[in-house]
Amino acid sequence: AKSGGKNRVALYHPQLRANQLDLTRIATGLRHATQRQEFTLNYQPVIDLTNDAVIGVEALLRWTPSGGAPVSPADFIPLAEETGLIVPIGAWVLHQACVDARAWHERYGVGVAVNVSGRQLREPDFPETVLDALRRSGLPGSGLILEITETALVAAGAAETTSVIERLERLRQHGIRIAVDDFGTGYSSLSYLRQLPVDILKIDRAFTAVAGDTEQSAENAAFTRAILQLGHTLDLHTVAEGVETAEQAGALRQMDCRLAQGYHFARPMPAADLTRALASPASV
Ligand code: C2E
Ligand code: CA
Ligand code: CA
Ligand code: CA
Repeated sequence: AKSGGKNRVALYHPQLRANQLDLTRIATGLRHATQRQEFTLNYQPVIDLTNDAVIGVEALLRWTPSGGAPVSPADFIPLAEETGLIVPIGAWVLHQACVDARAWHERYGVGVAVNVSGRQLREPDFPETVLDALRRSGLPGSGLILEITETALVAAGAAETTSVIERLERLRQHGIRIAVDDFGTGYSSLSYLRQLPVDILKIDRAFTAVAGDTEQSAENAAFTRAILQLGHTLDLHTVAEGVETAEQAGALRQMDCRLAQGYHFARPMPAADLTRALASPASV
């Protein structure tokens, strides 16, 4: 019986099979999710550390399959990228974020940052998709930021990178700003950064644990200081991501870090909650 059990494991790989089935099920579900209106956007405030004002928000995609539990973006975004579904899903995100942000921008000057995958950037008509979202929503280009990971910016071949840069330059002419997401975790070199049409660096959460007297936090602090300095030199804005405690916020303030985002200030929330929070700033 013992060896039989072993055999079964070898033949059926139950764990592996379960994972594959799961992925197939998620991929099938994703295909219908837009038309079934299963996606929503949450918005997380970006805070000015000098006066605690909300200066912008980041749009974060949420997926709850009908009758099911929410699926984490960490699970479905990679699959959406692999299957190419991120292109239509991303177009929906862009449009919905611009629609939601229009009033926030008009009343409070709050802009919206939208995450964009490398796969979307590689579509020749990506600029049209973005400009169309602006036109249909009435949000001006100055109210939109595109967040792109350094990996997505750099991973393409040289020829492809050139056309991606051209596309981003074109969008910047409309006042749209470009943020490098998760900065510090990828492999882009400094010389690369100078060539890229970039306005904002978002310092990855891995480096914003800068408070306390552990060796790790001292190292993080040195790293964060270096990125802030780099941003200053290149005339870029910098945002510290994933700030979870008052101590971290205080340490960042002392480093003259101006902008931050994280659970300490506010969690991602539905559009209606953000509208309320902006109307009564004390509650953010
Ligand atoms: P990201 O762009 O780096 O977004 C920040 C993530 O950190 C979000 O996770 C946010 O909820 C979380 N976060 C914010 N503050 C804190 C904090 O203080 N502590 C911790 N531990 N986490 C914090 P989320 O919403 O699960 O999204 C995960 C990733 O999925 C995003 O990372 C982004 O890469 C991707 N993603 C989300 N929405 C979209 C989208 O519309 N399009 C694309 N292409 N990717 C998206
Ligand atoms: Ca982001
Ligand atoms: Ca990030
Ligand atoms: Ca990330």
